[in-house]
Amino acid sequence: MTHLDGDHGATAYVGRFAPSPSGPLHFGSLVAALGSYLDAHAHQGQWLVRIEDIDTPRVRPGADSDILHTLEAYGLHWHGEVIWQSQRLPRYAQVTQQLMEQGQVYGCQCTRKEIKALGGVYKGHCRNLQLRGEHLALRLKQQQPVYHYLDALQGRVDIAALEAEEDYIIKRRDGLFAYQLVVVVDDMDQGITHVVRGADLLIPTARQIGLFQQLGYPAPQYMHLPLAVASPGFKLSKQNYAPAIDRQNPQPALLDALRFLGFAPDPELVTYPVADILSWALSQYQRQSLRRALEVQVSADANGKTQIQQL
Ligand code: GLU
Ligand code: ZN
Repeated sequence: MTHLDGDHGATAYVGRFAPSPSGPLHFGSLVAALGSYLDAHAHQGQWLVRIEDIDTPRVRPGADSDILHTLEAYGLHWHGEVIWQSQRLPRYAQVTQQLMEQGQVYGCQCTRKEIKALGGVYKGHCRNLQLRGEHLALRLKQQQPVYHYLDALQGRVDIAALEAEEDYIIKRRDGLFAYQLVVVVDDMDQGITHVVRGADLLIPTARQIGLFQQLGYPAPQYMHLPLAVASPGFKLSKQNYAPAIDRQNPQPALLDALRFLGFAPDPELVTYPVADILSWALSQYQRQSLRRALEVQVSADANGKTQIQQL
């Protein structure tokens, strides 16, 4: 036996889609769901769904089941059980405790305002103060700065040194665990081998790779898809009220999402069941043919149909 396959092997692929339930599924998150689904299935992999409801003030009641029903309506069926981050708080506390015992975490009392006044990047002010108490944020001592990594679609990604070296927050002053911590713990515990998601997370990925190293676990492979933006630099997210996609009539948005990713579906496919559209897409799928950009401008016309402006 030789070990020529530098990947984890064709059968070991585990991917995921990890929406935040701050609103219904919109076009940008459909693109991320579809891209990760196709990449997983093209590798005969598993495709898991995880509800990222860690940031409780942003969670909208019912948005989780709304998102899951929408995925089903689009034919994007997942493997196994859905997990909710809100049910895993003891696990996040355990990993935090472990990092603390290893001396990799410290308490910080700096306010956002103070950090901003010092230039916006945290320079380790509280690192050696041994602060104890309730109302502290917890920061990770950055001992594994990652200055660059290879993205499967975007190529080499370089990170500014100050950003790479920053001791970032893993538990907020308000007691909530930070996304940067929980995403890594979840990807690790779920055995995720491939992360396919929107390019808004291109830079934070370096921290995630560093945290995997700090926890002694191999990082997944990352691939960042272009972000759908409404106008230059403007994320088409739930926060700025991007319209929910149509659940009753999913074919048009599904074809739009495929075009967005770089496919050229026959317009007649719009009359086919979503399962057939997905099978067609899988038969065509090649990573090299995906649209490679960090952002693509889209707009919705009066009927809510998405227009892709940058072709
Ligand atoms: N929950 C994040 C979002 O909805 C995605 C996180 C991830 O895919 O790692 O933007
Ligand atoms: Zn501090």
